[in-house]
Amino acid sequence: MSEPNSSRYAASKELFERAQHVLAGGVSSEFRKFAHPHPLFFTRGAGARIEDVDGNEYLDFTLSQGPLILGHSPASVLEAVREASADGQIFAGQHLRELELAEKLVSLIPCAELLRMSLSGSECVHAALRLARAATGRPKFLRFEGHYHGWYDNVASGVAAADEAALGSRENPNLIPWTEGLPARVAEETLVLPWNDLALLEQTLSDRHEELAAVITEPVMCNSGCIPPKPGFLEGLRALCDQYGIVLIFDEVITGFRVGLGGAQARLGVTPDLAVFGKAMANGYPISALAGKRSLMDLLAQGRVIHAGTMNSGNPCVAAALATIAALEEPDVYPRIYRLGERLMQGLRQAAAAAGHEVLLQGLGPMFHLGFTSREQVSEFRETFAFDKPKYAAFSVGMQERGVRLIGRGLWYISAVHRDEDIDACLAAATEVFTDIPEQ
Ligand code: PMP
Repeated sequence: MSEPNSSRYAASKELFERAQHVLAGGVSSEFRKFAHPHPLFFTRGAGARIEDVDGNEYLDFTLSQGPLILGHSPASVLEAVREASADGQIFAGQHLRELELAEKLVSLIPCAELLRMSLSGSECVHAALRLARAATGRPKFLRFEGHYHGWYDNVASGVAAADEAALGSRENPNLIPWTEGLPARVAEETLVLPWNDLALLEQTLSDRHEELAAVITEPVMCNSGCIPPKPGFLEGLRALCDQYGIVLIFDEVITGFRVGLGGAQARLGVTPDLAVFGKAMANGYPISALAGKRSLMDLLAQGRVIHAGTMNSGNPCVAAALATIAALEEPDVYPRIYRLGERLMQGLRQAAAAAGHEVLLQGLGPMFHLGFTSREQVSEFRETFAFDKPKYAAFSVGMQERGVRLIGRGLWYISAVHRDEDIDACLAAATEVFTDIPEQ
């Protein structure tokens, strides 16, 4: 394969060297470190394209890790933000736009009887777990291997593993910390299981339910392989949580507003007790929502459980969410995103096969995963070790060199402003790159 041309990134390189003197690791989020050949500096994004300081333009399937469902800088969102900002930024008090957004979310999201707004997905996950503990009086929660629920202490274990062996037995997996600095109580409070295994879940909940306040899951396992739930898995999980009085939390930070206006819960027909939304809700403005059943959310109303935040539901972010949702309510938007995503998945399958590569594409269209593997299906985190990650890294570097920006771990996002021409251009680049990288 041709050597990547690093002089393409000379201006980014210089800025990255400067950044390392003032930003730890040169970045402001762990995930931004993993870029080729080093973190790049961007000057502007417009529509489905983004440009770096070296003047390289990319067709963007990163979409800032998911939020940009309307692409970069959609006019209606910018105008709403400009107008709302002119009215004031934040009031430490209530305002009509926030009420309108809450009413809209309640009308769209099946589990949303009451809401609270925050800034990030991580914060709302934190609040959801606190609510579940308060409501049940139980100390622990269960999470699934490889799901990502943000970076806070309570969920910073069970996210990653060096290899499959490190995970231990399926019945009693090792809880692997993702970071140093976690309090010991995290390990005592967290149970972890492989996902998509209803029999194992049934057994574990039957044995351990008295300790468990909550089960938290991504309804589609977007963060590892974009794995859909097996038929009956979420339904079974819902029934078990009902049986044992456990709070079921859906982490819809990726799926929310991406798979449809009501999230994965509306699309898949399983309603959790609490759900967390962020990312695509406001097309890149910092706002998140905790939505849930009245019986649980009332603990916030009563002040028995505390959730707060100086910056919550500021005017510009709320306006951005209202404008984003209004744009997503246009009838042709989701069908187009699905059609383009499915077309791209199919095209990538064909281009890979033509070049002799075995790949697996999984996902729904608006977001999907491409992995190099001979497996026909990957249904849980342990199976994701079958993906040839160095090969995918080589593929994504090759795509970047041809002006297509991808997330290095295999997840792709489609926006409402991608067009058939963009899919054609991406497939043309992929055809070249598949031909360029060695089969083995
Ligand atoms: N949950 C999921 C499913 C996510 O993908 C993320 C972010 N990637 C989070 C929670 C955390 O959200 P945030 O980065 O906004 O804190």
